[in-house]
Amino acid sequence: MSFDQLEAALQERRAAHLYRRRRLLESPQGPEVSVDGQNCLAFCSNDYLGLANHPALKQAMIEGVERFGVGGGASHLVMGHSSAHHELEEALAEWTGRPRALLFSNGYMANLGVINALLDKQDGVFEDRLNHASLLDGGLLSGARFQRYLHNDAASLKQRLEKSDARRKLVVTDGVFSMDGDIADLPELARTSREAGGWLMVDDAHGMGVLGQTGAGCVEQFGLSQADVPVLMGTLGKGFGTAGAFVAGSDALIETLIQFARSYIYTTSMPPAVAWATLASLKLVREESWRREKLRSLIQRFRIGAQQLGYELMASETPIQPIMIGDAAEAMRLSEGLETRGLFVSAIRPPTVPAGSSRLRVTLSATHSEQQVDRLLAALDELRGGVA
Ligand code: PMP
Repeated sequence: MSFDQLEAALQERRAAHLYRRRRLLESPQGPEVSVDGQNCLAFCSNDYLGLANHPALKQAMIEGVERFGVGGGASHLVMGHSSAHHELEEALAEWTGRPRALLFSNGYMANLGVINALLDKQDGVFEDRLNHASLLDGGLLSGARFQRYLHNDAASLKQRLEKSDARRKLVVTDGVFSMDGDIADLPELARTSREAGGWLMVDDAHGMGVLGQTGAGCVEQFGLSQADVPVLMGTLGKGFGTAGAFVAGSDALIETLIQFARSYIYTTSMPPAVAWATLASLKLVREESWRREKLRSLIQRFRIGAQQLGYELMASETPIQPIMIGDAAEAMRLSEGLETRGLFVSAIRPPTVPAGSSRLRVTLSATHSEQQVDRLLAALDELRGGVA
């Protein structure tokens, strides 16, 4: 078989303006970065609190390397579960108000692991149609009957749950939707799931650190308990500024994952120094609420400014502020126009989002200044011709 077949598919993707390429970052995360040799102001990192390059985290990482070395060395069940991992799990459990927490090497693996450990063919998985790819992949891989409900629509979920005779019913949603920035209606989803005898799993990758009084995410913001959200997943590579992910819940849930989650069992533990640095990060996440306040005010500033320019925003109160464009080529034009003005904002196109809903995904960080947000708005003003 020849590789020409692959070339044809690549060509097709190029012709549809959907070809993706990686950019070379030559600086740490932060508002001002060097990308492909050019200094620019970035609005596309998930480092929402500005912790990825924080001196306290870097110091903790160095200390972690000195104490624990570099590699995890083995899987958690063999000899890779260090006291750094263990201490972080206990701290995350306490912070989220759950009996236990379990670390995974990243969010993608956590989602595959959880859904596959909980479900098999006799079961049903009910997913928001805009869920993150890792949740959808986890559901498909599990072999459970797979259903999608309308975006953030508890009535649509209820209909599907009522018709289902599955043994176990797992309802799965993003807490903050990664491409739209809106927050799931968790109180309604929790009520609907409970009434149908289902479990609600929330992936709060983009809410952790950002929402709630102590940054514990959308579950904290809504004041929901473990009974409402028995399976809570968070990632550490975004608001926390490090890497990895965790699942928090009951003893039975965590033991089930340790025994059955294949993406937990059959992989090397994350480097312990990362867990050590994440402990330092958790302290800042909890204590430095000014980061969340600053974010809120930058979000408001951006929204008011962009709307005054005639751009269409989505109903988002989170640092994910997509500008809806529609056409993929137009989204690319804008992204490239911003880049020539020294601004780095990514264009999100199918298949990441549905056809016709290409967008600029602006993300804000607590380390952006008001002047930097104004610079973005000024550039958007110059490029407005094709949009308004
Ligand atoms: N869930 C959501 C909602 C995400 O946005 C992401 C990352 N983009 C993940 C899971 C995967 O997390 P990680 O990057 O740690 O693999």
